[in-house]
Amino acid sequence: MRLLLVEDDAQLVARLKPALKRAGFAVDVADNGVDGEFLGDEEPYDAVILDLGLPQRPGLEVLANWRRKQNPVPVLVLTARDAWHERVDGFKAGADDYLGKPFHIEELVARLLALVRRSAGQPSHELSQGGLRLDEDQQQVLLADGERVELTGTEFRLLRYFMLHPGEILSKTRLTEHLYEQDFDRDSNLIEVYIRRLRERIGKERIETRRGQGYLFRGEAS
Ligand code: CA
Repeated sequence: MRLLLVEDDAQLVARLKPALKRAGFAVDVADNGVDGEFLGDEEPYDAVILDLGLPQRPGLEVLANWRRKQNPVPVLVLTARDAWHERVDGFKAGADDYLGKPFHIEELVARLLALVRRSAGQPSHELSQGGLRLDEDQQQVLLADGERVELTGTEFRLLRYFMLHPGEILSKTRLTEHLYEQDFDRDSNLIEVYIRRLRERIGKERIETRRGQGYLFRGEAS
């Protein structure tokens, strides 16, 4: 999953970014509202963390502009603690969730995961598809027979994206865009390598190749 973090507090970014990456997110950062708005329109993020007090353009305006342009990306706003009016303004501008500063990173990650699952139409407390259960804390997958399988970081990110989008044909480009950060040297052939490894771990039949189109994860109904 790919995240956009729009935050001008460099210290907070330095703390958040590695923690979010450990949680399996690819993270792009914008330190002002203008760049943040632009990136949010140009790149296919799975969620955005948006600070409200930003240089160049306030977070509320950024959010309102996205929604006016029908940009549906899930947005969690960071508000000042106890500023209930900021939360109300945030929701009115189109926020999906909020977190008051200061906060625990664990809570941020839990809220983001819930937000992304909900927006993918899977409101359950965990990702479960086609007999597989994903343990997002341990970055392991539980197979139908109860076996626990360790995943590498990339395998985990790839499987999570597949499980969020079962039965959809996902092109290599789309997978690459959601797995890696903007400045990553994207070689979409790498995806083939990771798909092969993932199939070895979860069973070949789980991921179909659709020639010339991409890959399809067989979920519950497929
Ligand atoms: Ca700020």
